[in-house]
Amino acid sequence: MPELLPRARSSQESIFARMSRLAVQYGAINLGQGFPSAAPPAFLLEAARRAVGTADQYAPPAGLPALRDALGADLGVDGADLVVTTGATEALGLLAQALYGPGDEVLMFEPVFDIYLPQARLAGATPVTVPLRLEGEGSWSLDLDDLRAAVTPRTRALLLNSPHNPTGRIFTREELEALVALARQHDLWLISDEVYDELYFGERPLSLRTLAPERTFTVGSAGKRLEATGWRVGWVACPPGFAGNLAGLRQVASFCAPTPFQAAVAAALPIARETGFYGGLREAYVARLDLLAGGLRELGATVFRPSGTYFLMACRPGWEAETLVKRAGVAMIPAEAFAANEAPPPGLLRLAFCKSQAELEEALVRLARWEKAGG
Ligand code: GLN
Repeated sequence: MPELLPRARSSQESIFARMSRLAVQYGAINLGQGFPSAAPPAFLLEAARRAVGTADQYAPPAGLPALRDALGADLGVDGADLVVTTGATEALGLLAQALYGPGDEVLMFEPVFDIYLPQARLAGATPVTVPLRLEGEGSWSLDLDDLRAAVTPRTRALLLNSPHNPTGRIFTREELEALVALARQHDLWLISDEVYDELYFGERPLSLRTLAPERTFTVGSAGKRLEATGWRVGWVACPPGFAGNLAGLRQVASFCAPTPFQAAVAAALPIARETGFYGGLREAYVARLDLLAGGLRELGATVFRPSGTYFLMACRPGWEAETLVKRAGVAMIPAEAFAANEAPPPGLLRLAFCKSQAELEEALVRLARWEKAGG
């Protein structure tokens, strides 16, 4: 019998899929995988109902023209520089295939969103991580000298995620300017994963593209913005002149993203902007963040407050994700899932607060019960 290649055999069930599966199996509140428990907004669902039956055949591989136009207007980029993808995950995988290959090194920050590592390796490249370090409550610091020291003659690209999953950190203007200076000095590509661009709790994050439009590929996600993570509509905003080749490459993978969902997102994007939908979302999430962070602190956990995303990291020595999902009835993601070279402190976990208030309250009740029973 022939055998699967090692790259296929080494792919395991993702921590997100695993925790969601265990949450169902053990009847746990799922604060693990980041998906909202509320339904997407009515204006999006109505647009989808209209689209099914009228926009059912293949879209052009670069995306439905209506969606590229709507996105262009929303992001302030030329629609011709956009490529619509089957979720941001495909967008990131596509960029890995397009921008680096065997012998290349790709810089990324640790804690690192789990798929960045295998996507780089599948492209034949070597991921090189630069640590974000914990500095007491609330802050993850970046030492730019660590970043500069990580650049070698083989470095090809720098992959950034801001707001950052899992830490919720937003990179400052000064940091982004330093990254751009480094990229220009060493002629690196910049890949900016900005799927949480509308989920911030202070100042609006700066898009890296505005500082280096000639070399930045920006990744975005309708699933994150419009609370429909299963729709799989993502995009890449390319530097001028690159969208055509990228669309050519993406058609080899899945040809096009699902057409009715593209049509629905195209209709929904201007409505979301005009009705202040994102502002409402932020308000709702800050309230839930406060609820969860306050409850966790009362239980003795150290909370690292995010500046964006719908995740927070908390540390309670003795808490262990596998035990908690099975015995306390609360699913979370262990920090080890985001580790590449640095061992996270024991008891460090990521919790999603894009869940209902009732679910968050019940999770806190269960954790209090668990603590009371001696863990
Ligand atoms: N982005 C999601 C999270 O961090 C997971 C994405 C996925 O499971 N594909 O929870």
